Amino acid sequence: MKVLVCGGAGYIGSHVVRYLNTNGHEVVVFDNLSTGHREAVGMAQFVKGDILDSAALNELFANCRFDAVMHFCALSQVGESVVEPYRYYHNNVVGTLNLLQAMRAAGVRKLVFSSTAAVFGNPEHDFIDENHSTRPISPYGASKLMIERMLADAAGAYGLRSVALRYFNAAGADPSGEIGELHEPETHLIPNVLLAALGKDVELKVFGNDYPTRDGTCVRDYIHVNDLASAHLKAMHFMNEREGFHVFNLGNGRGFTVLEVINAARYVTGENINFKYAQRRTGDPAVLVASGDKARMLMEWTPQVTDITDIIETAWRWHRRIKH
Ligand code: UDP
Repeated sequence: MKVLVCGGAGYIGSHVVRYLNTNGHEVVVFDNLSTGHREAVGMAQFVKGDILDSAALNELFANCRFDAVMHFCALSQVGESVVEPYRYYHNNVVGTLNLLQAMRAAGVRKLVFSSTAAVFGNPEHDFIDENHSTRPISPYGASKLMIERMLADAAGAYGLRSVALRYFNAAGADPSGEIGELHEPETHLIPNVLLAALGKDVELKVFGNDYPTRDGTCVRDYIHVNDLASAHLKAMHFMNEREGFHVFNLGNGRGFTVLEVINAARYVTGENINFKYAQRRTGDPAVLVASGDKARMLMEWTPQVTDITDIIETAWRWHRRIKH
C-alpha cells in the first residue's frame, strides 16, 4: 500500500515509517520538522510541509495517490498546552481539519490517527478501557478528543474510515539503535533517566512520592514504540474490513512506578542514577494503565516487548549512541 505519514519525522512516526517500510509498504513522509528530525525518516520519501498549509496538502494529494494516511502531527506537551491553548487548538484541531478536507477532496478514505490517554482525564478506575469517560483536563487532551469527534462525524457524513489509537506511555526505541526519542526540551521520564545515567547535565526529579501507590510514585503503562508501530499496520488492515470510526487503547496492561523505572534503568545501564524528590506535577494522575483487550480481540494485536527492563534496554542503545 502507499501510505502518507504526516508527522513521520517524530519519535513515534519515525518508528511507524520504518515498520511500514520493513513490511513492504511505500511511504511518503510529510513533516514540518518543528520537533521531528529529517534523519529519522531514513529511506522513505520526504516532503517538508505543514498541515496548517492547505495548499501544500492539496499539492501533495494531487501528486500522489495514497491508499491511507497516518497522522502524527501535533503539539504534544501537556503543560505547554495549558499556557498556550490557542496554539494547541490551532495546530492540532485546525491542522487536522485541513488534512481531512484535503483527503476528502482527493478521495482518500482511510486514516489512522494518533490519539492519547490524555483524552480520559483523571481515571475513575484501574485498567482504562475504551468505554471509560472522556473528560480531558488539558487543552492537549481536549484537542485530541475534538479530533476524534470530527472523525466520528466524518464517518457518518463522508464515509471516512478511521481508527484513533489512544497511546499510553510510548517508550523504548528500535533495537537497531538508529532511531529513538529526542525531544527538546525533554520532559519524559525514561529519556530523562537515561540522560542522568549518561552523566549529562540534568538533575533528575521524581515528581511526587506521596501518591496512593505501592511506593508513593506514579504508576504508568509503558508501551514499546515498535508495538505501537505494529498496531498502526493492524489498524490499516482493520479498516479494509470495517467502515466507520473506531477507537483503541494501546498499552501493555502492566503498570510500573517511577522508582521501578529508575531501578530498571540502573540495572540496564550499570550506573548509579541519582534523583531528588520534587513537588507533584500538575495534572499527573496517580495510576494510568490501559486495558488492551479490545485491540487484542478486534485487531489481533499483542505487544511483544512488555518488560520494563527490555523496553529501557532498547532506549539505552539509542541514547548511548547519540549522546556519547
Ligand atoms: N516523571 C518524573 N520525572 C521526570 C519526568 C516524569 O518523575 O523527569 C514522572 C511523571 O510525573 C509521571 C511519569 O514520570 O508520573 C511519566 O511521565 P512522562 O512525562 O514520561 O509521561 P506522561 O505520563 O506525562 O505522559
